[in-house]
Amino acid sequence: MNKKEKLLLLSCCAPCSVGVISDLHEKGIDFTVLFYNPNIQPESEYIRRRDENAHVCQKFGVPFKELEYDPETWKCATKGLENEPEKGQRCDMCFYLRLKKACTYAKENGYTKVSSVLGISRWKDFDQVCRAGEKAAKETGIPYDSTNWRKNGGLEKSERLAKEMNLYRQSYCGCKPKK
Ligand code: SF4
Repeated sequence: MNKKEKLLLLSCCAPCSVGVISDLHEKGIDFTVLFYNPNIQPESEYIRRRDENAHVCQKFGVPFKELEYDPETWKCATKGLENEPEKGQRCDMCFYLRLKKACTYAKENGYTKVSSVLGISRWKDFDQVCRAGEKAAKETGIPYDSTNWRKNGGLEKSERLAKEMNLYRQSYCGCKPKK
């Protein structure tokens, strides 16, 4: 990561992002954590994750930006995909929707690239997240940095910090699809 860059890092929650936030902060990278997660249901859960993520950013002195919580947009975008399994087409659309919004916000607000922690969990398909990021990048002209934050001990670092900081750790990804 180049120090001249201005990075927008899309985050889904505090435990997935804490290790990356710590690393980027230590390296002196100019970055903002973006919270755009209309997939999280119900709203009370959204608020809990948002507040925990904002709290982590505050601890590190890193800017945190929340975009509008618009679950209706997410529901519209994933309509007809309710019965898809996790890692299926509903997740393709969910990642793309959030990353397209991130790239658009980056373009309008002077950021030079976008990355995300959406693929850091061992439950996620990292390549699926990257494909969505690359599509959003192509459509907006804002490069997507597909660093695999899970590697080189990144996942373990996030897990360790989440425990040390006693962060709230949810038991499901975000949506509540039909069974
Ligand atoms: S499982 Fe997670 S990534 Fe997949 S659609 Fe639901 S909230 Fe989005």
